[in-house]
Amino acid sequence: MSNASGASSGSSIGRSRGRFYGVPKTCPCGEQIMELISKSNNNPYRRYYRCGYAVARKLANDNHMFKWVDEAHLEEIEALKTKNVRLEEKLEAIAAERTEFERIVFENVQMKLEKEIFERVEETLIEASSTSKKMMIGVIALCMVMVGFSKQLG
Ligand SMILES: [Zn+2]
Repeated sequence: MSNASGASSGSSIGRSRGRFYGVPKTCPCGEQIMELISKSNNNPYRRYYRCGYAVARKLANDNHMFKWVDEAHLEEIEALKTKNVRLEEKLEAIAAERTEFERIVFENVQMKLEKEIFERVEETLIEASSTSKKMMIGVIALCMVMVGFSKQLG
């Protein structure tokens, strides 16, 4: 977290801006980023990202990109973690939605089935009653015919 290194003059500026998140690809000035190794006493051999323009001109106390590599990587990991959590939440929401959807579909199918069965039963009942009516009419007609015959015979 220290910015007391030979190359860290831009660190506090870059950090305070807060928009350089993770591993920088280019400097805000448009220049390519270089990966260098600190030779300072405070951060010996610590790797850092630095604007190529600033390196070429050996700038100090400038607004060009400076960032410790380990800190940039930590930020990337944090960003990934956040992304992961968001993805998990999304997946959970999708799963919950799907369960709800399946429940509705299941209920609809069940309702349809029940309705269909009810209609079938009703149809069968109507059919049965009409058949029995026909049979009754047939029986009655037969009786009348028999009565007629017996009258003729008698
Ligand atoms: Zn730059």
